[in-house]
Amino acid sequence: MEFKLTKEQELIQKTARDFADRSIEPAIDHIMKEHAIPQEILDGMKELDLFCLPISEAYGGAGAGYQSYVLALEQIASVSPGVAIVISVNCFGLAALEMFGSEEVKKRYMPGACTGKNIMSIAMTEPEGADPRLVKTTAVREGDEYVLNGTKRFITACGYEGPLVIFARESDTGQICGFVVEKFCEGYSISEPWDKMGLPGTPMYDVYLKDVRIPVGNMLGELNQGFRILKNSIALGKIGISSIFLGTILAAYEECMKYAGERIYLGKPLTQFQYVQGDIVDIAMKYEAARWLAYRLGYLADMNEDKGNIIKDSALTKMFVTNTAVEVARSAINIHGSYGLMENYKVSRIWRDSIFGPQTEGTNALLRSVVAMDILKRSK
Ligand SMILES: Cc1cc2nc3c(=O)[nH]c(=O)nc-3n(C[C@H](O)[C@H](O)[C@H](O)COP(=O)(O)OP(=O)(O)OC[C@H]3O[C@@H](n4cnc5c(N)ncnc54)[C@H](O)[C@@H]3O)c2cc1C
Repeated sequence: MEFKLTKEQELIQKTARDFADRSIEPAIDHIMKEHAIPQEILDGMKELDLFCLPISEAYGGAGAGYQSYVLALEQIASVSPGVAIVISVNCFGLAALEMFGSEEVKKRYMPGACTGKNIMSIAMTEPEGADPRLVKTTAVREGDEYVLNGTKRFITACGYEGPLVIFARESDTGQICGFVVEKFCEGYSISEPWDKMGLPGTPMYDVYLKDVRIPVGNMLGELNQGFRILKNSIALGKIGISSIFLGTILAAYEECMKYAGERIYLGKPLTQFQYVQGDIVDIAMKYEAARWLAYRLGYLADMNEDKGNIIKDSALTKMFVTNTAVEVARSAINIHGSYGLMENYKVSRIWRDSIFGPQTEGTNALLRSVVAMDILKRSK
């Protein structure tokens, strides 16, 4: 057991933070107003290989592993979780292709998404809900093609060109399978962006598929493997979301340290009040617990060839980190008094962003039942 970053990991962490401070921070107002990431930021992230850190070099990735990915994403998200999401959704899609795509699919779609020239999306959720049992989108086999029809809801980054991994009900088996569709192909269209209350930068849309035709080879894995593909992909997706909301905790911590040091109350800085010290200590304690859990998840992903082994740990980590982000954001508002409720104070943004964590990529209530099933199965 070693709780120490390698020199390379320290460098990746520092490079990501320097980039976020230098290039993303000055653009925050623009990102919030325009609900879009400026092209220069996307270009900068491409140069630093941020779109493909954990993906193997064989398909154009940086081959730096999931531990480095967690470290980089935490730092980017501490400045802008909305920007970090575009990286995480791209890596989520790439990981699904790397695990389950045919050699041809990998070679066709992965190099472009690794460079960030194309950006991947993942589409599971439908108007009826995100539970796989509710999927109504169909993939009907016609000769050498599948024909896809359906509506997907709340899909991140699907306004960018690139491959979309979509989960649909396969006609011969009635089971859920993953398919790769090129965004903006014939029959693909999207709604207006949803007007969400936080996470500015990466809009989400509904996706409409009307008689979209893809080669049968664009199905991921084998028939009857669909649920495994879904579960393993989602486990890796949770590394991204855990890292992003770890960044939210870090941001809240840093803002509190800054504010409490600068704000003079009754002639002395807030840091000299014991009650405020206690709140800051609680935040520091929660940050340490959350970060080691998230770093450990990166480690587990690097160590386990079969990503099915990390399903329980990814759910536990996601629940802990995202719940903690909400608690810490609440304390951060408290330390800022009424200033924390003002739009021009970063903590008000952190508060609005924090609430997204427990609600997305499987609500935390749903994940509790996933973990319960796993624990009970093992105890038999
Ligand atoms: C910013 C953002 C980005 C998103 N990006 C994507 C994306 O790129 N791709 C994608 O596919 N989806 C995406 N989503 C959708 C998101 O992942 C789902 O909306 C989320 O998982 C919640 O599902 P739901 O809306 O169906 O809630 P529901 O499942 O309808 O949940 C409603 C309530 O029922 C509870 N509940 C549901 N099932 C259970 C259960 N089994 N046990 C106990 N309680 C339960 C929930 O906890 C919740 O309280 C995104 C959403 C947001 C907000």
